[in-house]
Amino acid sequence: MNKPISQIGAAKPHVVVLGSNFGGLTAARLIREEAKETVDITVIDRKSYLVFIPNIPLEIFANQDPTKSLHMQFYSFLKEDHINFLQAEVNSIDPISRTVEITPNERPGSAVEKVHYDYLVIALGARLDYAAIPGFGEYGHTVSDCYYGNKLRRYLFNKEYKGGPIAIGCARFFMGKKGNPDWLHDMKAACEGPPLEISLGLTALLNEKKWGSAKNITLFTPGEYIAEDAGIPIVKQFLHMAVDEMGMNYINNTQDIKEITKDGIEFTNGQSVEAELKIVLPNWNPHSFMKQLPIVDEVGFVTTDLFMRNTDFPEIMAVGDAAALAAPKLGGIGDAQARIVARQIAKDMGVFHKPEEDKPFNPVIMCFGDMGHNKAFYIHSDLFYGGKTGILKMGYKYFMLKMGFKESYYMTGGKPPYWGIKLSEIIGD
Ligand SMILES: Cc1cc2nc3c(=O)[nH]c(=O)nc-3n(C[C@H](O)[C@H](O)[C@H](O)COP(=O)(O)OP(=O)(O)OC[C@H]3O[C@@H](n4cnc5c(N)ncnc54)[C@H](O)[C@@H]3O)c2cc1C
Repeated sequence: MNKPISQIGAAKPHVVVLGSNFGGLTAARLIREEAKETVDITVIDRKSYLVFIPNIPLEIFANQDPTKSLHMQFYSFLKEDHINFLQAEVNSIDPISRTVEITPNERPGSAVEKVHYDYLVIALGARLDYAAIPGFGEYGHTVSDCYYGNKLRRYLFNKEYKGGPIAIGCARFFMGKKGNPDWLHDMKAACEGPPLEISLGLTALLNEKKWGSAKNITLFTPGEYIAEDAGIPIVKQFLHMAVDEMGMNYINNTQDIKEITKDGIEFTNGQSVEAELKIVLPNWNPHSFMKQLPIVDEVGFVTTDLFMRNTDFPEIMAVGDAAALAAPKLGGIGDAQARIVARQIAKDMGVFHKPEEDKPFNPVIMCFGDMGHNKAFYIHSDLFYGGKTGILKMGYKYFMLKMGFKESYYMTGGKPPYWGIKLSEIIGD
């Protein structure tokens, strides 16, 4: 069996982190910070850069290529931290033999290898299942990666857009229930901050270019309320502004997207909406190889306790979109979970001496959304989980905080200091 170079002849426990976007990169670097040199760390991802997904919409509406600005190379940061990086496709996990099967993917034709772990941190996100939406390939648009972002950018700025109606919303998310705490309620959409952000950013662009106005836009949601995870009072405030004041249209309880056609979107509840431009986010569907494992819920997300450890295999941890406890699917939630995982491993290694920071996962939504014209909205809420914080604010300051977060993320190589996140919260609130 192949061992990463650092493990050969070494007696240190081997931590393998699967995935190196928001969850995995931060987890790997924080494990090094907290556990110091007591462990060997290997990160495995199919690509050697992070995609800074939250800023794709604003780059698109500014007619800028996100591939240039939002692909962050992470190799040098891992090297600085003595973390091995393997560029490979993860094919499967065997919790019994504690091995991961990979195929190096820099060139096609590579042979399968096995990597042994003592700790496994799963941060593989999920499959954004556009392929499951009939008609998406031909008629759909989205902003969740640079490929699709640029496709939308071409549509808008190469004069393909004719000024017709625009539909923005999510397909149905299927969330598991197994092992969920009482405060984690079922959600019908995985991540509905983006539709709010896209609707406002696009309105600013329509106004500026004189292509239309908010009245062109229909927001839709499979649930009772769009972005219900922000808390109903906040959603009502948002809808009052977007629908009553700006003139957007709004459809709820669509259940799911049945089909995207040339002329619009048909929903499974029998309704439909006419649209020239259809911008959608799909179901977050766990990767197919995850679904058969003994560590996942009935859908395929990794079940964990509040310290992000699987209860049957406590050496397996999960962070970010791959974790059942990450609901909604938000990078900020993955960041909080990465901090917990790093402390758990440091604790096991006997090098974690900050018991006051050894706290279980306590979810909070914190989200900055672009509104165009250098403004952003800020949501800080735990209402969905039964808490009492519910803050929605808008203005230039929040746009600066959004951009500031990206800068600090790039400068620190995916390890923004906790005080920076806390400071954003204090300034935001
Ligand atoms: C348009 C949009 C806007 C958003 N805005 C915000 C926001 O403002 N704030 C916020 O907090 N969140 C936001 N989110 C959500 C955020 O992007 C995700 O929650 C976050 O990316 C999840 O991070 P992750 O590391 O868990 O998973 P991912 O980002 O999906 O990363 C998974 C990693 O695993 C790798 N991988 C997957 N499968 C394999 C495999 N089989 N083999 C090898 N490698 C593999 C991938 O290459 C990737 O690097 C937004 C999402 C979208 C779509």
